[in-house]
Amino acid sequence: MTLSHSQLLLDWYDRVKRDLPWRRTQNPYRIWLSEIMLQQTRVETVKGYYARFLDWFPTVADLANAPQEQVLKAWEGLGYYSRARNLQKAAQTIMNKHGGVFPSNYERILALPGIGPYTAGAIGSIAFGLREPAVDGNVYRVASRFFGIREDIGIPRVQKEIQKLVKDSIPADRPGDYNQALMELGATHCCPGTPACDLCPWNQLCDACLEGDADVLPIHEKKKPPKQVEVAVCLLTHENRIYVTRRQERMLNGLYVFHLIEEETQPHRVQQMLCESGFSAQFIADLGEARHVFTHRVWNMRILHFELTQLPADVQMVDLEQMNQLPFPTAVKTAVQEARKLLGGHTA
Ligand code: SF4
Repeated sequence: MTLSHSQLLLDWYDRVKRDLPWRRTQNPYRIWLSEIMLQQTRVETVKGYYARFLDWFPTVADLANAPQEQVLKAWEGLGYYSRARNLQKAAQTIMNKHGGVFPSNYERILALPGIGPYTAGAIGSIAFGLREPAVDGNVYRVASRFFGIREDIGIPRVQKEIQKLVKDSIPADRPGDYNQALMELGATHCCPGTPACDLCPWNQLCDACLEGDADVLPIHEKKKPPKQVEVAVCLLTHENRIYVTRRQERMLNGLYVFHLIEEETQPHRVQQMLCESGFSAQFIADLGEARHVFTHRVWNMRILHFELTQLPADVQMVDLEQMNQLPFPTAVKTAVQEARKLLGGHTA
């Protein structure tokens, strides 16, 4: 990107930018506060909170030294209170580690509590003129269209590529304004769905606009839906003890489970399969269903009670007290409750 790209965008921004309180300052504390407040909160709502917060805590030192209840009170109604707690923690770090002076180096800004790459880039560029990108969801969208990135922007490599393209496109003289202009473009003309390219200062240069596919960018590949797996959870009891086994598989490795059979939950078929695995068992009762969602699979479980008529060698049978000492995954929580009932215990 040459200077003319940035100049076009900056000229547009100078014409249309909204007059917001935090745009009238270069004070890093104020810019930081606005960036944190604007996360998950609308501009109109932030305005009132921003003014009151600065009234109560005009400087980093005031914020660092205030009682936490007072900081939370000033935040009351904004939600996501960890933002307020982190603000105060970061203010205390600035006082204790940086002699009360807001750090002007990108890495040091990024190291403050509650500050990620986007916020560090915003503060660094707006308050200190650093050529650091501030890439949020809006800017990913604008950049993927402008540069014609037609790969899934959920891929970390693609995100890095976009961040680099944006960083390289930042003009040396007005990095903060340029970053804000990109955000403004994403919030106004270059919106999700069909963008208003005819109003955009970049419509003669933008790859997606020239190619005519802006409305399908950025590409978000849909995650594959988790695989649905039917699982029979077999509670195999014998003389007030129950069969358990320690998982060797990668999933739930090292945790204890009951005998599990995948892809089959019909009692008579499960009984046959138990027999094939060396268990002589008699079906007693269907104890109901349970479901557990893992990241990539869902277990749709049927809990079946069988009485072992003969004990195979080398199996681990435990009584209630022993079972209660073993680590079971949450996935089989309902089955554990049923097992406790069978072994004469309480379900809690
Ligand atoms: S020309 Fe259209 S797609 Fe390209 S940046 Fe502007 S609004 Fe977005």
